[in-house]
Amino acid sequence: MKKILALHTGGTISMSANELGEVSTNEENPLLDSRFIDDNIELTNETILNKPSEHITPDDMFKMQKRVKKAEGQGYDGIVITHGTDTLEETAYFLDLTLPNHLPVVLTGAMRSSNEIGSDGVYNFQSAILTAAADESVDKGVLVVMNDEIHTARYVTKTHTTNVDTFRTPTFGPIGLVGKRGIHYFQELIQQAVVQVDELKHNVYLLKAYAGMPASLLSCLDKKETNGIVIEGLGAGNMPLETVGAIQQLLADEIPVVMVSRCYNGVAEPIYDYPGGGIALERMGVTFCQGLNGPKARIKLLVGISAGFTGENLRNYISNAVS
Ligand code: ASP
Repeated sequence: MKKILALHTGGTISMSANELGEVSTNEENPLLDSRFIDDNIELTNETILNKPSEHITPDDMFKMQKRVKKAEGQGYDGIVITHGTDTLEETAYFLDLTLPNHLPVVLTGAMRSSNEIGSDGVYNFQSAILTAAADESVDKGVLVVMNDEIHTARYVTKTHTTNVDTFRTPTFGPIGLVGKRGIHYFQELIQQAVVQVDELKHNVYLLKAYAGMPASLLSCLDKKETNGIVIEGLGAGNMPLETVGAIQQLLADEIPVVMVSRCYNGVAEPIYDYPGGGIALERMGVTFCQGLNGPKARIKLLVGISAGFTGENLRNYISNAVS
């Protein structure tokens, strides 16, 4: 018998639509009425938040992390977290970076609310429970299960505004599938180090580069309270000429600047050696972060700073894909 704890945090999976199709939160989560029957699984439901995921903050993620840590000592074999899909990937990655335990932790959500035609909530919830209960899911890092696919928290991203097939892992693909007769894994991530965080530092920002981006968008963040900035740069990690001086000033003021790509696929790497090119930016002290998208790189920078990393240690933590 596997003991699974389901932590509910809100999102469309717990919402309902009115007769006009407008979707909103419920006082009572309809998912709790769904009957999950598997003789080998004992399910415990616990509501820890009831928020659309746009309202989820790093402090909420930390609350979930603490609850999962506690669950390990309570004899649970796996954890499912239901969550709104808009920021699900950020919570999943925060947990992936900070949870020291080996329990399977599986996040899921829904694209259609509980009473809409073709609602995917109960199905995804069931798939997540089965994944969390599978022996093969141990030591895989935090997972995201949606629409019959198993993705890693590190690389999954929401790619479609409304389609149920929205969660994808660009470049690598899902690591497993939820079949009709069980869970199937096909690949595994290289393990990463987990860091200890006791208190969260905030004021870590994310900007997206574009043609003609003014320096003022960067220089307005050049303040004592700013702990770090992630930029989704152009292509492999390049910046418009006008922004270079402002980036240089941020670095001179000891504000870490991390570069990822605004491209959907591939990794950010320094390739071009001209003002604003990746090589020139790296020479200035910009840290390249490979393979993560902007929101995840921001979570990693926030976690690294909160864990107390500074200078070279912070740069290594951010730039090393597996640590
Ligand atoms: N806006 C919703 C949320 O993230 C979307 C969803 O859950 O699918 O809470």
